[in-house]
Amino acid sequence: MFELSEEQKVIQKSIHQFAKKELAPQASHWDASEEFPWESVRKMAEVGLIGLRLPAVYGGSGADLITCGVAFEEVARFDHNCAIILCGSNITGRILLYASEKLKSTLMPEIAKGRYIMAFGATEPDAGSDIRAIRAIAKLQKDAYIVSGEKSMVTFAGVAHGYVVLVKTEMEGVEGISSIFIEGDRPGIDIQRLQGFGWRASQWGNVAFNDVKVPVENLIGEKNNALSILKGTVQEQRALTGLIALGTAREALEEAVKYAKIRKVFGKPLGKFEGIQFRLAEDHTSLEAARLLCYQALSLIEKKADEASVWAAMANLIGGETAYKVVNNAMDVYGGLGYSREFPFERRLRDVKAMQIANATLKIEIGQGLFGKEFLPYT
Ligand SMILES: Cc1cc2nc3c(=O)[nH]c(=O)nc-3n(C[C@H](O)[C@H](O)[C@H](O)COP(=O)(O)OP(=O)(O)OC[C@H]3O[C@@H](n4cnc5c(N)ncnc54)[C@H](O)[C@@H]3O)c2cc1C
Repeated sequence: MFELSEEQKVIQKSIHQFAKKELAPQASHWDASEEFPWESVRKMAEVGLIGLRLPAVYGGSGADLITCGVAFEEVARFDHNCAIILCGSNITGRILLYASEKLKSTLMPEIAKGRYIMAFGATEPDAGSDIRAIRAIAKLQKDAYIVSGEKSMVTFAGVAHGYVVLVKTEMEGVEGISSIFIEGDRPGIDIQRLQGFGWRASQWGNVAFNDVKVPVENLIGEKNNALSILKGTVQEQRALTGLIALGTAREALEEAVKYAKIRKVFGKPLGKFEGIQFRLAEDHTSLEAARLLCYQALSLIEKKADEASVWAAMANLIGGETAYKVVNNAMDVYGGLGYSREFPFERRLRDVKAMQIANATLKIEIGQGLFGKEFLPYT
């Protein structure tokens, strides 16, 4: 049976208190102003959340995946965008473990302090679900790569100090994909902000690389091997963002339960009516089932189990779907007030919707992983 350790329970409680006191009061402000929440990043760095999963030798705390899940879930209850930032620093940040010692030792401590934001660019205008279709290219010219291409819908594009970018390394059409680190201040980078439905504080946008000169040492891991290097990162990101969505939904559900006890209709509290009670009970059940699936996925990823990939995809799928349903129902319990911007339900609904869109093709991957190569579209 899955159970948190005593230490993880203590961490859960302290992060809950921290996020409720320090992050929740500003969450609506960052969403409405669409500003990156630097103040919240600083606070999260102070308590060790920004570098929670980065190795201690590079300034982090080296936490295990379950502890990260607990932390991200608690932060997401009170500010979904802050939890997405944690995913960026702790998961995208860890890609640097495959980079040169120089990059690791200079950048990771800065990431852990919340002073260096890393973004990840895979998607392109003509390559989203089908990531093998990317066209961005890094051409070797003497001792440097010249990178050209456009990455779209990049989270943190507007504030990132550096990007991990997927590129073709030889010529267009070549099978292999490489990952390369590109400092954000290199000449030839153009950023175009996108206005999102949710994740409004995340400075979402498109990033164009116009013949950007990048040292060969910035290549991450082996050439043409990015997809296998990033496999673990993708799994972690999927399972953890599933939990982020569920953390946001959990807070919405708990508020709806409280409201159902005090809001009177037809002379009685809402909760006395089975139509409301059953829905809340069903949502609680689906939420707990989805959380367990996410934690099981994290445990399989930690063990590097063969089935981790499929479980990570299932965790993300069920996390996003369940969270959207639960937040939507919680909004309904609040009636007209739930729809108003005075309450955070509409913000939460916009934020958890991102999960369903961003990992749109998970069902294809789950089908292939579970049912065999007959379900692969490119064979
Ligand atoms: C909030 C947000 C943040 C993001 N952040 C990043 C980021 O940081 N870095 C990054 O690289 N990308 C990011 N993305 C992009 C995201 O990864 C893509 O949106 C996703 O991969 C889907 O690609 P697409 O949007 O091009 O959709 P497409 O691939 O064009 O698909 C369009 C629709 O068709 C469906 N579809 C696709 N293939 C099939 C099929 N074979 N059968 C049936 N249906 C299919 C999809 O599910 C989708 O509904 C982000 C997206 C969002 C919404």
